[in-house]
Amino acid sequence: MTLNWVNKESQKLKDESRWRQVRQIPKRDVLNFSSNNYLGLARHPRVIAAAQQALQEWGTGATASRLISGTIPIHPQLETALAQYAEYEAALVFPSGYMTNLGVITALVGAGDAVVMDRLCHASLIDAVKLSGARLFVYAHKDLNEAERALQRTVSYRRRLLITDSLFSMDGDFAPLKELLVLCRQYGVMSLADDAHAFGIWNTTEISEFGIRNLDLMKPIEKVQDDSKAISKQSSTNRQSAIGNPQLMPDLLVGTLSKTLGSQGGFVCASQSIIDWIINKARSFIYTTGLAPTSAAAALAALRLLQTDHLPREKLKKNASLLREGLAEKGFDILKSSSQIVPILLGDIEFTLALSKTLETKGIYAPAIRPPTVPKNGCRLRFSVTAEHSESDIERLLGALNE
Ligand SMILES: *Cc1c(COP(=O)(O)O)cnc(C)c1O
Repeated sequence: MTLNWVNKESQKLKDESRWRQVRQIPKRDVLNFSSNNYLGLARHPRVIAAAQQALQEWGTGATASRLISGTIPIHPQLETALAQYAEYEAALVFPSGYMTNLGVITALVGAGDAVVMDRLCHASLIDAVKLSGARLFVYAHKDLNEAERALQRTVSYRRRLLITDSLFSMDGDFAPLKELLVLCRQYGVMSLADDAHAFGIWNTTEISEFGIRNLDLMKPIEKVQDDSKAISKQSSTNRQSAIGNPQLMPDLLVGTLSKTLGSQGGFVCASQSIIDWIINKARSFIYTTGLAPTSAAAALAALRLLQTDHLPREKLKKNASLLREGLAEKGFDILKSSSQIVPILLGDIEFTLALSKTLETKGIYAPAIRPPTVPKNGCRLRFSVTAEHSESDIERLLGALNE
């Protein structure tokens, strides 16, 4: 039979404990530590009301691609609001964050170009680079020396693009954003940061600060500063001043409407000319139906809420430090997490699955993260904290792990 291989290969995954199944969200009384609804906006009454109003006014779908007749007034409103919030000239929304990355990256680079990327970048970024046909140069996680060597090795390529997550989705640590952007400027390379988990919670200044603090090698930073003296003679953009410049931003910022904003969809922020180019070149924008009216309206309402109400963000950050400190105190390896994403590294796949199951019997939901999402010995439980957790929820998790 031509399809026999499916059962055989599936069985192999099952034997290795790597088989995945879609699951329904656990019962309501389960304490959920796996949600990306960081500020609780997905169920906020004002967000729901905005979606309902859009539903009444525009119906259930955009009914055509954006370039045909699928652009409704909420789309440009949302795009303007996103651009303003992120302090870019323009923005463009896509039906998902995954599609944003596919479309944006293939619009920027192709065969004959080079992409330099952190090893722990999100799968959608890796897929996008593969689809683009550009040559991929990967550097060790947050290693500025390796990143710089990769930039040197790519000088002969036509166009060059450096890609990083701003907040890494499986380790919960921040990229050394400022240093990477200084390198990009020095080597004349385009920069793109995937802000999916940080958007609405951590701004680029905080990310840069955390990035530096998290970086145990201070060497690369000194090196960057030393070299700047040498190049400042020829170059008007001296790296030292660039490091002190809070305005240093990635050329492109991509993100999702589906995490903190609690909706569905993705977006890219950049200069107007880059956005216009993406509109013309991104196939996952051109050949797909526009973002649903309800999704766009919900995201816009959520964005406005998070700009006016800062309490949930403060609560989230407080909850996150409580959990990080509690876990570290108990001797768990939380890697370099300094955010609301807090992993505990366990290594072994069977042990990780067993611990996840045990927690579930205690009413706590935190799925095991295993290959191919993480490397073979990188199995972990990954807790994501939200503003909706209470202090006693965090204590309950810590208590359950104690046993
Ligand atoms: C979730 C995520 C995406 C994909 O976003 P969707 O809107 O869920 O498709 C892209 N990049 C990163 C880093 C993510 O965490």
